[in-house]
Amino acid sequence: MKEIFLMKLGEVVLKGANKRQFENKLRQNVRRRMKPYGNFDVYLMQSTVYVEPLDDQADLDGAWEAARTIFGLVSLCRCRSCEKDMDSIFQAVQAYLGEDLDCAPSFKVESKRSDKAFPMTSIAISQEIGGRLAEAHPNCQVDVHHPAYTVYVEIRDLAAYVHGPAEPGAGGRPTGVGGRAMCLLSGGIDSPVAAYMMAKRGVEVEAVHFFSYPYTSQLAKDKVLELARLVTRYCGRMTVNVVHFTEIQEAIRDNCPEEYFTLIMRRFMMEIAQHLANRDGCGAIITGENLGQVASQTMEAMAVTGAVVKMPVFMPLVGMDKEEIVTIARKIGTLDTSILPYEDCCTVFTPKHPRTRPTLGQVLHAEQKLDRQALIQRALEQVERIPVKYHDETGV
Ligand code: ATP
Ligand code: MG
Repeated sequence: MKEIFLMKLGEVVLKGANKRQFENKLRQNVRRRMKPYGNFDVYLMQSTVYVEPLDDQADLDGAWEAARTIFGLVSLCRCRSCEKDMDSIFQAVQAYLGEDLDCAPSFKVESKRSDKAFPMTSIAISQEIGGRLAEAHPNCQVDVHHPAYTVYVEIRDLAAYVHGPAEPGAGGRPTGVGGRAMCLLSGGIDSPVAAYMMAKRGVEVEAVHFFSYPYTSQLAKDKVLELARLVTRYCGRMTVNVVHFTEIQEAIRDNCPEEYFTLIMRRFMMEIAQHLANRDGCGAIITGENLGQVASQTMEAMAVTGAVVKMPVFMPLVGMDKEEIVTIARKIGTLDTSILPYEDCCTVFTPKHPRTRPTLGQVLHAEQKLDRQALIQRALEQVERIPVKYHDETGV
């Protein structure tokens, strides 16, 4: 008897070519994500991904943990496979779930028969296995309405499978079905959550970080690389483009009115991000902006910073409360790194009284002494590209 994973697809409303693309991507992603844990056969049938270890060396616990982070899967079951006959099914349930049944006050059996050639109906299967289990576990009562524990029996084409309650999968859509986007990744709480949320919608995420050495330290950069690595636990891989931003920030400080510093700086960030996005085949930009959180995140400020880009800007956190964002950061494991106290380039040269209701005309006037294109060109020439994968233990 072998232990295998059955993982159910999400968003099954899809049809035709979209469904095929979704399934192919998902199978490819599952294969890639299982690889570090051994040799697995990964196949997809009846809206279910099967992950079957090919030998005894496979690290099933590691693979199971990884499976929980794969987008496009709504529920995961760790099961035993067995022959499609009642004795084998009963023995498999006893061996695999017997201890769970001993601990539960009540149970029921739920069966599903997708192999219609199997001679018994689902109800008959449940009744027979349920009856045998009730005899074997006298302290566990049958309760078909409110059972404390449910045993599942699935009769599929290749084999029968038995398992306990399913666990929730990561949800969303398989990474890669939603195109590619460039995320502005700072060291804060918000932007890693924004990257995660768009990755969950099937977007392949690349990142850009603006780094102002010596105003911000190597530790601040390492922190961002570590945040990127933590997000790759969900989306597989990412390249972080580190942009040296000091010259631009000093030029703004020396040539522009202080109240516009942050706005002008953010316009540079967006424009540089757009160049990198175009270079890397990204169709959108992602930021962790949140309406009203800071002076540069009012509607008027967003209009001024958004004016330099022509591609869509995704702000998945724009309408969320900080607490909701923190809850997600905690769930995906980025919070503890985000709150390490290293400075971000946004906190260098912060104006005492930033403009919260700027107009585009005012900002264009405030930045007129700068040779924007020359500054952007020089920054682009020095971009460092750092590939990040979850299995590389880089960073802080
Ligand atoms: P975060 O928690 O993500 O840092 P924040 O609330 O501190 O966000 P801001 O500092 O105003 O907000 O930044 C808004 C957004 O701009 C960030 O979510 C991020 O997408 C981007 N951003 C800010 N600083 C940087 C940086 N140094 N490099 C790359 N992107 C940045
Ligand atoms: Mg920040």
